Order: sequence, then structure tokens, then C-alpha cells
Amino acid sequence: MSIRLNQLRTRLLEEQQQLQQQIASFLAAQPSQDYQQLHLKLEQLPLPRWPELLLHWHTPELRGPSKRLEAVQAALSQMEIGLYGICCDCESRIEVERLELDPAEQRCAKCSLGVG
Ligand SMILES: [Zn+2]
Repeated sequence: MSIRLNQLRTRLLEEQQQLQQQIASFLAAQPSQDYQQLHLKLEQLPLPRWPELLLHWHTPELRGPSKRLEAVQAALSQMEIGLYGICCDCESRIEVERLELDPAEQRCAKCSLGVG
């Protein structure tokens, strides 16, 4: 289990970095002053605090990656406190196959279907 957990953690860390780059390069390419200011602010913030700032923005190019960044970071902090892979609805173990499809998965198969 711990080897598998390490692999999932590596995938989450890689995705976190990709999302950070995706957001930063989108902002860097925007001529508007608002985006330039947001970009400057983000550069001064630690990565775990990016979503709280970004989720105020409704731009689809920011919203998608910001929500995903939040989910990825939530999974990483659950790993740190030993609560990774627990369904947020019923608190049973999330199936390993689901976590391998999406390491940031927060629900077991049953709860994600809205059953039970
Ligand atoms: Zn569940």
C-alpha cells in the first residue's frame, strides 16, 4: 500500500505543478491589468493559498484549473494527516481503482452515484 501511496502522491505533486504553470502562463498572456495584478499577487503567495484567491474569479480558464488545484491539494493534505482515501460522505475506504483513475477522488463508487 505504501508504494502505491507514494506513486499517487507523486502524481498529485506533478499535477499540482502543472496546474500552477497552466494558471501562471494563462495570466502572463493576458493584457488586462486585473490579471497582471492577480499574477503578481499569486507569485507572492505560497501555492496552497492560490485557490482561495483564484476561486473569486469566474474566468473559465482560471476556474477549471483552480478547482482542480484545490482538489489536488486537499488530497495531498489528507495524505499528510493519514486520512487519504477515505470517502468524504460515508467515511469508508475509496476503491483503489478509483484512486488510480483519479488520485484526488473524494468519494467511493457508491456515494459518487448518489446511492445509499
Ligand atoms: Zn462513500
